[in-house]
Amino acid sequence: MCRKMTASEQEQGYAVCECGKFAYVFRAELLRFKPKDYHGELCPDCDQWTCSLEVVEPVKLR
Ligand SMILES: [Zn+2]
Repeated sequence: MCRKMTASEQEQGYAVCECGKFAYVFRAELLRFKPKDYHGELCPDCDQWTCSLEVVEPVKLR
């Protein structure tokens, strides 16, 4: 992520990457809920190691 995180992104623990297809996750708690065999994926557009939004979005930290 080259831009700054917004406050809401910091709170939710991930930021949707610039192409809108993946999420850049920076909170370890979120990754605890991902499927065991899922290790993230490289976003080809943004060149960032990300998780699919389908994995990250259902997770609620609160
Ligand atoms: Zn992307």
